[in-house]
Amino acid sequence: MSEPAANPPPPPAEPAPEGGEDAASTSKKAAKKAEAKAKKEAEKARRAAERAAATAAATSAAETEDLAKDNYGPKEGQLAADAIEINLKTLGEEHVGKTVELRAWIQNTRVQSAKMVFVELREEGNWAIQGIVAANKEGTVSRQMVKWVSSINSESYLLVEATVQKPLEPVVACRVSHYELHITKCYILAAAPAGLGMTLAAANKAVTNFSDEQAAVEEGVDKLSIAPASEPAGVPAASMLTHLDNIVMHKRAPVAQAISDIRMEVKELFRSYLRSQGFKEFEPPCLIGAASEGGANVFRLPYFSTEAFLAQSPQFYKQYEIAGGRKRVFCVGPVFRAENSNTPRHMTEFTGLDLEMEIKKSYHEVIDMLEGVLLHIFRGLKERCAEEIELVRSVYPSEEFLVPESGKEVRLTFAEGQKLLREEGPEEYRNVSDHEDMSTPQEKALGALIRKKYGTDFYVLDKFPEEARPFYAKEDPSNPSLTNAYDFFMRDQEILSGGQRINDPEELEARMRKKGVDPKSPGLKEYVDVFRQAGVPAHGGGGIGLDRVVAFYLNLPSVHLAAFYPRTPKRLAP
Ligand code: ATP
Repeated sequence: MSEPAANPPPPPAEPAPEGGEDAASTSKKAAKKAEAKAKKEAEKARRAAERAAATAAATSAAETEDLAKDNYGPKEGQLAADAIEINLKTLGEEHVGKTVELRAWIQNTRVQSAKMVFVELREEGNWAIQGIVAANKEGTVSRQMVKWVSSINSESYLLVEATVQKPLEPVVACRVSHYELHITKCYILAAAPAGLGMTLAAANKAVTNFSDEQAAVEEGVDKLSIAPASEPAGVPAASMLTHLDNIVMHKRAPVAQAISDIRMEVKELFRSYLRSQGFKEFEPPCLIGAASEGGANVFRLPYFSTEAFLAQSPQFYKQYEIAGGRKRVFCVGPVFRAENSNTPRHMTEFTGLDLEMEIKKSYHEVIDMLEGVLLHIFRGLKERCAEEIELVRSVYPSEEFLVPESGKEVRLTFAEGQKLLREEGPEEYRNVSDHEDMSTPQEKALGALIRKKYGTDFYVLDKFPEEARPFYAKEDPSNPSLTNAYDFFMRDQEILSGGQRINDPEELEARMRKKGVDPKSPGLKEYVDVFRQAGVPAHGGGGIGLDRVVAFYLNLPSVHLAAFYPRTPKRLAP
């Protein structure tokens, strides 16, 4: 029988071994064996070729046809109808295994392979979660989708659909560490540029340079702008100027948001405490017609055919409220100072927390109230803002703010403070006078002594010398060289000035003259007349600088960091 044509020709017969019949039959067998082997190999090769062709066809189909193409892209797409909207703060066990939707910023990407990428998605503050985009067999998440997600610019705003799962191990890099999102859809709602003016990592580092004059470019902002958000700890810090020039990234930094939240909590605690003590809130004007408290540090501005001034304090208006029949009032609002003070304690606009109240027997009632509200704020912050404080400390390390035990508040007279400085302070303060106001270095030295002696960062200095206080301050009836006026301190620095005010018009005019102030001058005449219009009870109060309370409580290097939009002599934007 002849072989089918398709089969390879039989291999040439091996030469017959010498030796007759036997040798011939052995040679025939060998030929058959070789023929069978060749057939088998040919079949194997044919099958392999078939398989290769099938794989190639499948690969090229996958390349041209992306089954996940509708599940990602630069525009919002359709999510599953049953996807549950989540917020990272409230994500819980009930969400595990469910399909959810999240809107968040992408802050970091880590490519694992062509089939898998990890992303970090952040909502407000430091609320971030790990997401995983992994190509699957069904093709609903494809390699193309993985590649596309890997290329999204940091700080773009995304809409994702995902299944919530528990990671094998807690994700330490993210605040939400016990859940992760297995992303099934991903759309860009708002794209960030390829290069950020300041990365999140740089924005979340401590600001060390507050010079208004230093050009941002000097510190290598260009370098900062190309660094990825996932920079290691060695990322350079940026100056305050760079932060303000990149206000969006400044505000996105978790530390900036924590400071803002603490600030608003201080306001809230101030308000709620005073309301509980029978105080009424009121609103003083910012625009005033006369530079009432002294001309030098007031902003003037054109006002139709005349000029106006920005209020340097709500002092007179608090007193008008008391004169107007309120027993206890407070206000919270902007205060403007045209002082060319380029220090970490000063701004040209800051927020005042002010109160004024009737005095029944002694102005110490006012000191009690001011101490009460501030201690309420300090204790309230510790209780309500523990996480925010810890976050701020991770960037701006600080010792805990020391508060005196109830009933052990520290009140020294100005003279006692000076005596402490003379006796126990540094050599240069051996001769400080009881009649001259303290300098900032003196205040710092005294604060250090008080902390050592009394274990507190919060204390009061009372009975300031007459020379150091304004014309409306009430003199001490038993010693007119002193006033019933005080300052409060936090971590060695002044946060509050206050005192008893003069409520008798004749006494007020006399003290004005003594201080070289004309009681008939515009603005002041109207002020004095208020005390003639009707009987005004004895009263006193104080003005607290909100920015300083926040900055000193957290031991920030500058009040500029405590303000939303700091205003300094050289900075009016953003
Ligand atoms: P300082 O002597 O520190 O300049 P001051 O005596 O002028 O302050 P007051 O006029 O008594 O301050 O204002 C009451 C409070 O307002 C201060 O204790 C402080 O907390 C805050 N404050 C005053 N000036 C500023 C400023 N320029 N920037 C930020 N806060 C301020």
